[in-house]
Amino acid sequence: MSKFFTDRLSALIPYTPGEQPKDMQYIKLNTNESPFNPSAAVAEAVATEAGKLQLYSDPENTAVRTALAKHYGFDVNQVIVSNGSDEVLNFAFMAFADEKSPLIFPEITYGFYPVFAELNCIPYTQIPLRDDFSIDVEDYIGKNKTIIIANPNAPTGMVLSIADIEQIVKSNPDNVVIIDEAYVDFGADSALSLVDKYDNLLVVQTFSKSRSLAGARLGFAIGNKDLIADLNTIKYSTNPYNVNRMTDMAGAAAIKDNQYYADNCQTIIANREWTTARLIDLGFEVLPSKANFVFAKSDKIGGEELYLRLKEQGILVRHFTKDTIKEYNRITIGTKSQMQALIDTIISILGE
Ligand SMILES: *Cc1c(COP(=O)(O)O)cnc(C)c1O
Repeated sequence: MSKFFTDRLSALIPYTPGEQPKDMQYIKLNTNESPFNPSAAVAEAVATEAGKLQLYSDPENTAVRTALAKHYGFDVNQVIVSNGSDEVLNFAFMAFADEKSPLIFPEITYGFYPVFAELNCIPYTQIPLRDDFSIDVEDYIGKNKTIIIANPNAPTGMVLSIADIEQIVKSNPDNVVIIDEAYVDFGADSALSLVDKYDNLLVVQTFSKSRSLAGARLGFAIGNKDLIADLNTIKYSTNPYNVNRMTDMAGAAAIKDNQYYADNCQTIIANREWTTARLIDLGFEVLPSKANFVFAKSDKIGGEELYLRLKEQGILVRHFTKDTIKEYNRITIGTKSQMQALIDTIISILGE
């Protein structure tokens, strides 16, 4: 740290992204990317737009916002896009949480939430999960706090029902409830169905997982138009050109190719069910996941050791050192052959 770093931020511990080692070719099952390429129309849209990079992007991102609004059945002024959904989550924390409306979120969840809270000096409380890693809805009913819940949750993959989410939203009418649906396309129900009923609900999604665009950085939020206007105030106060031209057009093309991505999600879901069954056969405990990953613990080998042994064999999974989850690994669901390679490698590790 330099002597110039402000006192306000000197204790900030940044988010740690999944490792991207360059020393060999790995099977990457550690950052929940899609194993499938973007569709051909997306690659074409990017190539066309690349020839216009001397011009700023459309600050209103009309192409992708219009496509999203039409696809999900909302007015275009209910949609904002961002540089990855991480950015719009940060905007939402800035806009809707402070000392008067502090944050609450599960103790085991996406690691960026405490970082954004610290960065924006927002007080926050982390609520423990139940012993089975489920969220106890009662902990979020009538709290008068700003709430963020990932649904499905990460890294557990477990879901709350829409009825439970509605109870939370309804019972905190004076605060914003943010539902982070980064993984919703892999089998969970979306809270988008509640958006027009509640003015305090913000639903955040991303193109990074189900739409094969992690590298393009594109996320979005949908909510009441006044919430979206507030988020635009933050956007225009930080970076009006937050989504670049190529990503704007790539996103619009991806929405138009929805069937391709929906089919890929079905493949991932089938591979998830297959992988879960094989891991259970091998003695693993696997949490019930509706995401493109599983969270699993072996009865024969420790979490960190399994992670390290898999890495030696060229397979990356995500291991967290937090005490309550350190025996688990989060394994991204890839292609069938990647999952077969994972299972074969685990069998050989356990057999030694
Ligand atoms: C991956 C992820 C995100 C955001 O990813 P972006 O690439 O920034 O869109 C947000 N929330 C959760 C829970 C995630 O796992």
